Amino acid sequence: MCIFCKIAAGEMPSNKVLEDDEFMAFHDINPIAPIHILIIPRMHVENFQSVSPELMAKMVPFIQSVAKELCLDQTGYRLVVNNGRDGGQEVPHLHFHLLGGARLKWTHLAKDETHKSL
Ligand code: AMP
Ligand code: ZN
Repeated sequence: MCIFCKIAAGEMPSNKVLEDDEFMAFHDINPIAPIHILIIPRMHVENFQSVSPELMAKMVPFIQSVAKELCLDQTGYRLVVNNGRDGGQEVPHLHFHLLGGARLKWTHLAKDETHKSL
């Protein structure tokens, strides 16, 4: 079972913000902004590329309600999904990073030279 499946099942602790039958929102253990929340589906979906439109359609209003719960709907926020190797995805269970609580910077993100093949 992956680490976020364990959190969803209550087998690993998390600092929860909001949950329902299908989704969970909890604080990132290593925040990179004053507010850094992870939003996951309870069911294991490996990444954004493989999520169904039906699940995403339900996830969108859940994400909006998490933003509202934290008053980020008033101040603004950034929603990030890291997908696969080049996206820097470390946990292979779909999650959205909801970032806010400060004016966030936007910068050049690549560490290495562009690769020529996969
Ligand atoms: P990503 O690189 O997009 O896969 O992001 C994974 C995120 O999960 C990172 O920001 C980690 O800090 C976070 N993370 C890993 N383990 C935990 C955990 N047990 N509880 C909360 N956040 C976690
Ligand atoms: Zn999982």
